[in-house]
Formats: sequence, C-alpha cells, structure tokens
Amino acid sequence: MMEELSSGSSDYAASTWIAWFLSTKGNEYFCELDEDYILDRFNLTGLNTEVQHYMHALDLITDALDEQLDDDQREQIETQARILYGLIHARYIITTRGLAKMLEKYKRADFGRCPRVLCYQQPLLPVGLSDIPFQSPVKLYCPRCEDLYNPKSSRHGSIDGAYFGTTFPHMLFMTYGGVSANVLHQRALALEQNNSLTGPQQNSDDLCNEVGAADGPSDTRAQAHVEPATSRGAMEAASLPKPVVPDVERVVPRIFGFPVHETSRLMAWQGRQQQKQAVRISRFQHRAENLPKRP
Ligand SMILES: [Zn+2]
Repeated sequence: MMEELSSGSSDYAASTWIAWFLSTKGNEYFCELDEDYILDRFNLTGLNTEVQHYMHALDLITDALDEQLDDDQREQIETQARILYGLIHARYIITTRGLAKMLEKYKRADFGRCPRVLCYQQPLLPVGLSDIPFQSPVKLYCPRCEDLYNPKSSRHGSIDGAYFGTTFPHMLFMTYGGVSANVLHQRALALEQNNSLTGPQQNSDDLCNEVGAADGPSDTRAQAHVEPATSRGAMEAASLPKPVVPDVERVVPRIFGFPVHETSRLMAWQGRQQQKQAVRISRFQHRAENLPKRP
C-alpha cells in the first residue's frame, strides 16, 4: 500500500488527502498518520497557534473540508495543511504506533544510506536539529558513525526538521534496541573482544542480552555500557580494568602498514617533553642565579 503510494504517478488519483500527500514526490520520509490520532484533539494541543487557518487545515487533512473556497484560499489552506501534517507527524512518530511505522521505513532504507564507506550502507533516520518549525531543514542520522548528513535530494533537503524532531531516532533505538543489524554485529564483536581481554567470566550473559534484545523493546544502546546487574559481576567489573572498545570502525592512516599518526603523535609528545624540560632547566638556572649569596 505505502509503496504503491510513494511511487504513484502524477495521474494517480488518491482517495484521501493524506494518501495524496504521501504520494507526492519529495514526501517519501513521512509515514501515514492514523486518523484516530489526528481526530484526538489532545494530541494536537498547542498546534492551533503554530498554523494559520488551523480548523480549515485540519479539515482538509481529514477530508472534512466542505466549504466552497476560491483557488487563492484553497492554496493558502493547502500550505498550512502541509505544515500541520508535519507538526502532527513529529508527535506521532514517537508514539508506539508511529515508531513501528517508521521502523518499517528504516528497514526498507526509505531515508537513504550512510555515505561513509566504513558504515557499509547503514540505513539512516531523519532527525531535526530543532523541535521548533522554520529553524532548520531535516538531517539524516547514522546510528553507526553517529553523525548527521544532508539528504541527497533537494526535495528532501528542504523539508522542515521539526516535522521529525530531535527525539525521534533516539527514541526508536531506545524502543527497538538492536534494530540495526550492523550495530548489533559490532556490539557482539566488541563484547567478544572484551571477553578475551577480561577473561571468560561474566560477559557471556551480556552478549545474550544484546542479541536477544533485537526483537524486544529494551534499551540496548544504554545496556551496552552498563555493567551486569549481579553484585558479583559488578564487583568483578569494578576490580578489572575495562578496555574501551570503540563502536565505530575508523580509518587508521598507514604508510607501508605502519600507522602514520602513531609516529607523528610520538614525535609531537617528544617535542612537548623537550620543551617542558627546557623550561624547567631555565627555571632552575634562574633560581640558582638569584639565590642569596652565602657569606
Ligand atoms: Zn555512518
């Protein structure tokens, strides 16, 4: 149904305003709002001050606009209806229902994939830099490198970021911890490494939790850095130095196999030590020269 709509041609006659809106080119990031959600006025609290012609715009969205309007008026209301849809959308996609719909879109990579080579085509999620409309356009968040990107297409690049909000991607991962297979795989690898470095004791449970959380709502992103809940595990963990395993694979510049930055970092450190030493020596000399002469 959704695919049919989003790939709909211009002569596709949408049955509802929402269906038409979603089938319009450039609106592929949006999911379909439930009519029940829109009709519950509690969900729209405060939006009447954000949108002009609020009642007409709302009627248009719900296909309840009966009044005869001239083209000018209709166009104005149309514009406001799009804004209103966007603002309701931002609230809707952090509800259980909305998150589930956006998860499906994420799985289909409807929001595109991370352009970074070492992110291996990681699907992206839309995010706003502000929850207030007209501040900044939507960006795409990569859960793998945890960075933001501009959408490729200018149509998507001009969508208001407030239609997705600052919370959405993080709420999605809070709810569906391990939805990103790549991130999950990396976590598992990191934990394996962790095991081999800290010994075989408590961490096997951790790994099971991580993997098991893939289809259950739990906060794996937070869990990944949380110690095991048992007091024995906690005590052991406290006494062991935990190696920091980075989540994100990064480029290490190498020349003939040698990481170049290692050498340059060492040289910089040596330089700083030499300088410090020189300052200390000159201080000693200065002090020695100024000591009161003993008779
Ligand atoms: Zn990335």
